[in-house]
Amino acid sequence: MNIGNLAYVNLLDWLCYFVFNTTLNNIINGKGKYMKISKRAQEVPASATIAVTARAKELKAQGVDVVGFGAGEPDFDTPEYIKQAAIEALKAGQTKYTAAAGIIQLKSAIADKLQKDNGLNYSPEQVIVNIGGKHSVYEAMQAILDPGDEVILPTPYWVTYPETIKLAGATAKIIQTDKSSGYKITPAQLEEAINEKTAMLLINSPNNPGGFTYTPDELKAIAKVLEKTNIYVISDEIYEKLIYGKTEFVSFASLSEDAYNRTLTLNGFSKAFSMTGWRLGYTAGPLDVIKAMGRLQSHMTSNPVTFGQYAAIAALGPPADEAIEKMRQEFERRGKYMAERLNSIDGVDCSEPTGAFYCFPDVSSHYGRNINGAKITGSMDFVKALLEQANVALVPGLPFGCDNNVRLSFACSLEQITKGLDRLQEWLSQ
Ligand code: PMP
Repeated sequence: MNIGNLAYVNLLDWLCYFVFNTTLNNIINGKGKYMKISKRAQEVPASATIAVTARAKELKAQGVDVVGFGAGEPDFDTPEYIKQAAIEALKAGQTKYTAAAGIIQLKSAIADKLQKDNGLNYSPEQVIVNIGGKHSVYEAMQAILDPGDEVILPTPYWVTYPETIKLAGATAKIIQTDKSSGYKITPAQLEEAINEKTAMLLINSPNNPGGFTYTPDELKAIAKVLEKTNIYVISDEIYEKLIYGKTEFVSFASLSEDAYNRTLTLNGFSKAFSMTGWRLGYTAGPLDVIKAMGRLQSHMTSNPVTFGQYAAIAALGPPADEAIEKMRQEFERRGKYMAERLNSIDGVDCSEPTGAFYCFPDVSSHYGRNINGAKITGSMDFVKALLEQANVALVPGLPFGCDNNVRLSFACSLEQITKGLDRLQEWLSQ
């Protein structure tokens, strides 16, 4: 081999080594084109409320006395009888895999609950236990929707819905509601939004963030519009047990045989039983959809936590009514007080909540103002300035599709509510 060839081979070797090494380094250090993020993930934004929550935490860490109205979970502990059932299940060795869709005893207990409380006749096979209600929403959409489908989504909506619709490749068709209809969609609005691409309607009553509940007649009118179509309904009933005053709750699927056949009834343990950290939700509906969700679940997550499932059976047992009622009464007291106080503030318009644990006042008559140097143009500016200047943390209405409003959770003590509203009143009166 002549020296020229040797140099050539060595150069080639060196080049290969260089390219390989740089590539390896890039992979290890996550640089360059190997740092790939899917379009799907890129299109899901971080929650628009994160900045406010993070700032509230920062202020608290600096020793500032912040009053937080951001909580999306009950401030009560999980009732003791449910915790005990989990401990007993653990001690009995319930620590292994179960059927992906949940144990038959829990699915039966859920089917019994749906019969007793909601007049719904589901077999245990028509029930799937999911890893929280959020997972129920995600999985139901994955099981039903295809790219090109449209989902009718009334405002105000829970922030997760538009993202789960997007993740299923579908498009949200947003229906804007306002005060005049109590933030509920009318049959005429629904009729107008339907086209040949419409695959699903999302109904969430009692509503997060709106704190309102559809009446049985309002739901019947919606069900009637759907009768001529093949549109599925997701009825998110997770706040079912938290209703106030004379409010009547009715499951969408119980309205008629037609409604039953097209509805996925979503519910869970997070809100009524104060079990947000347990991650237990469920879906009941047409057998084929539930089976499809089961197939997805068997590859995505497998079963919900095994000993948690035993605790969930206990949760639905005889002590349930009393345990829920205690929390419900306390929420009712706080919600009434919060709404009264909010309404007494100039330029704040709030309906008394009929469900869930949120007030969702319209504060838009303060938009356009300059408060202590902060220009208020919408709900994001409003909550930012309030937090910085008066140390009260609210959630802006914008990510819920209603920029005129802000959300206040009453999952905190009456003392905190009083203190926070005193500050809000004083801040707005400047
Ligand atoms: N639906 C609505 C309307 C909610 O507000 C929430 C919780 N914020 C959920 C579903 C899901 O709750 P989880 O995943 O804790 O069961």
